[in-house]
Amino acid sequence: MKAEIIESKDLKNDPVFGQLSFNNHEQIVFCNDEDTGLKAIIGIHNTTLGPALGGTRMWQYKSEYEALNDVLRLSRGMTYKSAITGLKLGGGKAVIIGDAKTQKNDRLMRRFGEFVNSLGGKYITAEDVGMETRDMDIIKEVTPHVTGVSETIGGSGNPSPITAYGVYMGMKAAAKYKFGSDNLAGKKVLVQGVGHVGETLVQHITEEGAQVILNDINEKRLEELSKKYNANVVLGDDVYGLDIDIYAPCALGATLNDDTINQLQAKIVAGAANNQLANELRHGSLLQEKGIAYAPDFLINAGGIINVYAEVSGYSRDEIQERTENIYNTTLEIFNLAEKENITTHQAAFNIAQARIDSAKKDKN
Ligand code: NAD
Repeated sequence: MKAEIIESKDLKNDPVFGQLSFNNHEQIVFCNDEDTGLKAIIGIHNTTLGPALGGTRMWQYKSEYEALNDVLRLSRGMTYKSAITGLKLGGGKAVIIGDAKTQKNDRLMRRFGEFVNSLGGKYITAEDVGMETRDMDIIKEVTPHVTGVSETIGGSGNPSPITAYGVYMGMKAAAKYKFGSDNLAGKKVLVQGVGHVGETLVQHITEEGAQVILNDINEKRLEELSKKYNANVVLGDDVYGLDIDIYAPCALGATLNDDTINQLQAKIVAGAANNQLANELRHGSLLQEKGIAYAPDFLINAGGIINVYAEVSGYSRDEIQERTENIYNTTLEIFNLAEKENITTHQAAFNIAQARIDSAKKDKN
C-alpha cells in the first residue's frame, strides 16, 4: 500500500467513522467515568509492528472534535515514527480532556490507568504534554502497560537528552546532504525553543563550533543560556527571515507554513518539534521547491520513543545510544530517496515506514 499523507478534514459530518476510516485507525476507545470526571480518548492507529505505544496528553480542548482530531493525528504519527525508526511498536496515543493544572489528580490518573489496563497491552502509554513522570508512576499502580516511569521503579528516565542527540544526528545528516560535509563548525543555526530538548541540542552544536542563535519566549532563560553557551539571542517571533544556514524548530508545531516558508533563508530545517509542517503535503512541497532540505520531524525526534522502548524491549543504554545514532543514516537515506524519486522528504520517510508495516503484515498472513 502506498503511504498516503493526510490533510485535516472537517469532522462535523463524520465525527468518528469518517475520520476513523480516513486515518485507517484500528480502534478508538472513549473513556468516561462519572465519579472522577474523566473524559479521555485512546487512539490505536496500527498494531502490525507491535503494541501501540504513545504518550497521553492532557489538554483543555475547545471541543470534543478538537480532542478527537488531535488524538487521531498523534496516534497515526506514532505508527510512522516507530516504523521509520525500526522499532517493534505500533502507533497509539491518548488524550484526556481537561486542564492539567487544575483538574489532574491521582484518582483521575488511576482511573485512566484502569482503562489502559483494560486493553490488555494493546496500547502502552507514556508521558506527553500536561503529564509528568509522577503521573506515570500512579498509572503503574494499576497497569503494567505504561512507560516513562521513574528510574527508581525501573523507568528509563528523562527522554529529552536522547531526543536532542537524535535531532543533532538528523541535523548533521542534513548538512552532509546539503553542504557535502556534516561538520557544523561555522554554520549559523537558529534554535527556536530552548527548553529540555533545545538546550541539549545547543550544547552539542556549540561544542562542534556552530554559531548558535537562541530564540524563546522565556527571556530569563534566553539570558541564562546565552551566557552559558556564548550564543546570540533574537527576541520575538520575527525570526524566519534571518540570515541563517539551519533552522531548528524546538518549540511548537506548525511553524512551517505559507508565511514562514516564504521568508525562510535557511538551507536546512532540522528540529525536535512535532508536526512542524502546518500542512504535510503543501508545506513539504513548498520546502522542496525552495530547495530547503527538511529532515522529517517524526524521524529525527524519535530518540524519546527509543528511550521509552527500552522499558518494553529491555534495551541497554548502549543500544539506545546506537539506535539514536542511526537516525543519521536513516535521514541520509531519506534525503537520497526523496531526490531520486522527486518526492518530499516527508513522503519518502512515510513510504519507507509504510513498506515496513506492509512487509510485517504480509509475514503475518
Ligand atoms: P519544553 O517545554 O521543555 O521546551 C519548549 C521551549 O519552547 C520552552 O523553553 C518554551 O518557552 C519555548 N517556546 C514556547 N513557545 C515558543 C514560541 N512561540 N517561540 C519560541 N519559543 C517558544 O519542551 P521540550 O521537551 O524541549 O520539547 C520541545 C519540542 O520537541 C516539543 O514540540 C515536543 O513536542 C517535541 N518533542 C520532545 C521530545 C522530548 O523527549 N522531550 C520528544 C519528541 C518531540
